[in-house]
Amino acid sequence: MYAIVLINAWALAFIFMSKAPVWLSVWIPGGLSLICCARLAGWWRSRHVVPSSEAARMALTRTNQFSFVLTVALTAWALSLYPYGDTYARGNIAFFIAITGVGVIICLQQLPSAAFIVAIVINTAFVTYFSIEGMTSFVVMAINMAFVSIALLLVVTVQFRHFSGAVSARAKLEVANRENARLANLDSLTGLSNRRQFFTHLEAAFSEPDGKRFAVGIIDLDGFKPVNDLYGHSVGDSLLKEVAQRLNELVDSRTHIFRLGGDEFALTLSDCPGDAELLVLGEQICTALRCPFVLSEATVQVSGSIGFSVYPDLARDVHQLYDRADYALYQGKRTNRGHAVLFSSEHVIAIEQNHQIEQVLNRADLDSELTVFFQPIVDIQRERTVAFEALARWDSPELGRVSPADFIPVAERIGLISVLTRSLLKKALAAACTWPEDVRLSFNLSTHDISSSDGVATIVGIILSSGIDPRRVDLEITETAMMYDFGEAKASVEVFKLLGCGIALDDFGTGYSSLSQLHALPLTKLKIDRSFVSNLHKNPASYKIVKSLLALSHDMKLGCVIEGVETSEELDALKTLGGVLVQGYFYSAPIPEAEIARFLPGPQVSRKAG
Ligand code: C2E
Ligand code: CA
Ligand code: CA
Repeated sequence: MYAIVLINAWALAFIFMSKAPVWLSVWIPGGLSLICCARLAGWWRSRHVVPSSEAARMALTRTNQFSFVLTVALTAWALSLYPYGDTYARGNIAFFIAITGVGVIICLQQLPSAAFIVAIVINTAFVTYFSIEGMTSFVVMAINMAFVSIALLLVVTVQFRHFSGAVSARAKLEVANRENARLANLDSLTGLSNRRQFFTHLEAAFSEPDGKRFAVGIIDLDGFKPVNDLYGHSVGDSLLKEVAQRLNELVDSRTHIFRLGGDEFALTLSDCPGDAELLVLGEQICTALRCPFVLSEATVQVSGSIGFSVYPDLARDVHQLYDRADYALYQGKRTNRGHAVLFSSEHVIAIEQNHQIEQVLNRADLDSELTVFFQPIVDIQRERTVAFEALARWDSPELGRVSPADFIPVAERIGLISVLTRSLLKKALAAACTWPEDVRLSFNLSTHDISSSDGVATIVGIILSSGIDPRRVDLEITETAMMYDFGEAKASVEVFKLLGCGIALDDFGTGYSSLSQLHALPLTKLKIDRSFVSNLHKNPASYKIVKSLLALSHDMKLGCVIEGVETSEELDALKTLGGVLVQGYFYSAPIPEAEIARFLPGPQVSRKAG
């Protein structure tokens, strides 16, 4: 547009150079050219700047004002040349005004207000001036120009409608795209950012390191599954929403909360405080989660555990940071459920130890190094030992005694577990054959033992050839082992059931199985995990969970063993709740076969006798 204006103006100036004074034919067009060039330069410089709506509105208003000023100036200048020209040169003035006006109106089609201003100024000046001058042919030209302007303005108006329609459609599309992206990164139930956003957030934090400590915390609810099962999914959903709200209320702007899925949440802390402060925050969260949740349908109680890890202390990258927080959480749930655990150098050592166990286990003489200990399971109403759980012990010449909690998972990982199971089961059955008929044997199976028909056949063969009545044997299976391949596990369990064995679901309450899945299994017993039992007389959350689980086992007509009872207070609380079968250090730690006799039936079961 400016190019049209300048070329046309200088063409006119050129025609009048020899006729009009210099100030009119050179200085004025020169000044106008400078102003146009300055404006052109300003636009060029800002061509990559995306203005705010307000700035854009102001710039367009300025353009309207400038259009008026420039059109008035140019028209006045062109008409002021009129007295100096002959008829031919005067025709050029009319031509200049008309053609420049048409060009400018077309160029301003995205700003119709400015196009109208230009058209009104030019036509008013044109018609008025030539009417006063009284030159008929110029008056006709002016009227002609007025009609052309009207037609052009109509075209401009229609074009502008199309243009603004396209702009608003695009804006709507952008809004929709932004909303889609937001929803894709959002957990629809709680409104928190989701797992995908969690990892995006972590990657972003790592791509722009600011030298500050950065922490990740993974939160897992304990006892969520029973709530979901007992009260239904809508209560479970309300609970998760409430949990999200409590978490949000506890943290400041440095902290982001995410829901990773199920009952797992996460938080990230930029500019993370010292370890002690971090753990204090973790404990505050755990305390908040322990408070009862008053929902419209029911009041429920759960607890939550947190695992933290910190960059750059013990994690080098995003995945290590996440894995180590998860490891700390897993350890916390095993040893100190309902609290916060920070991944530490001890955990690094434990990971290394696992590696060492793996190597030694691979070359161990399992038959001679493995023994079985037995822990009594007591009927607290009749005060009698009714069964013993067989628990593996490994005395390695290289590593000393290794806990089964440490070597069983390694044996599972490296594919040695079926060899271990065979050896242990034979030893346990041999011992059980010497016990009175009414004392049962409980034996732990792992995932791999029940995930192949060969494994199952081997176990069945060992039980049958031991000479014991299979109805005296309970096989313990954890929820996690069942969930690995539910179909296969169910088929295996059914075989054991047909044989006459009892089936106990071990560590109940810690896994994720649903009630419908449990119903599908031919279970005979539930074993409530010891993490719910510890201090249950002081911890209302644990108390309620145990109460619910006892009710559940009663409803399902299953026996229920409560594990990990250590104190008389816990025992009393369990008695109040109507618990029957109890196992734990209160009666006895696991003992070697030789010491079993003192727990065998007599009228009384003595506590830690001998
Ligand atoms: P589990 O099956 O839950 O066994 C109970 C564990 O709790 C045993 O640990 C037992 O010593 C311990 N425990 C019993 N009462 C108390 C108590 O009052 N307080 C505390 N703090 N702990 C108590 P253990 O013997 O170290 O076994 C650990 C885990 O290793 C077992 O947990 C089981 O999952 C696995 N395991 C042990 N023996 C075998 C086995 O022969 N085969 C398989 N597949 N797994 C086994
Ligand atoms: Ca067990
Ligand atoms: Ca257990």
